[in-house]
Amino acid sequence: MRKFDATTLLVATHNAGKLDEFRQIMAPLGISVTSARDHGLPEPPETGTSFVENARIKAHAAARATGLPALADDSGLEVAALNGAPGVYTADWAETPKGRDFIMAMEKAHAKLIEANAPQPWQARFCCTLVLAWPDGHDEVFEGFATGQLVWPFRGQTGHGYDPMFQPDGDARTFAEMTPDEKNIRSHRNAAIQAMLRACFT
Ligand code: IMP
Repeated sequence: MRKFDATTLLVATHNAGKLDEFRQIMAPLGISVTSARDHGLPEPPETGTSFVENARIKAHAAARATGLPALADDSGLEVAALNGAPGVYTADWAETPKGRDFIMAMEKAHAKLIEANAPQPWQARFCCTLVLAWPDGHDEVFEGFATGQLVWPFRGQTGHGYDPMFQPDGDARTFAEMTPDEKNIRSHRNAAIQAMLRACFT
């Protein structure tokens, strides 16, 4: 396992929310965070068929282009009764000509569960894969999961994406009925980040 011994980490994302989350986590470690956008890097097409392939594409492209260690993540929802769908296509299910519509995406997931006659509870998990890549081509991979079930009708106002439809194990609330802090400590992204910190940043 390679340790991170640089002082600047490039986060290979154009998503301001993810960038802020990483900045806050890295600040107490004395590591400054810069982004793909700060370096004017293009967003490479996510052509992989797994979370790790997509995260590798983003992390290695950024590390090669800048000469800095780079971190990328890829995430999504896997529904057991749908054989792991939508998986890497989680965001695609929300695409419309006018932008992303996650109510439509949740309705699609619900319609497919009804069509498949899937018995409840509808077990599902959010997955997050992190890839930390170095300019010499080495990388380390970390995964985190939030396990639970999909509920219908969806409930709650906070969060984003499929949060209103996802009820984590051990809680009667969906992610969208929690405060951001309550969700974050249970999240797949937090689990993957904590695994990376334990392995590479201690
Ligand atoms: P990406 O990793 O930014 O490509 O995210 C893929 C998609 O997964 C997002 O567009 C969301 O639809 C979904 N997703 C990932 N994490 C979450 C989450 O914590 N809550 C709800 N949806 C999520």
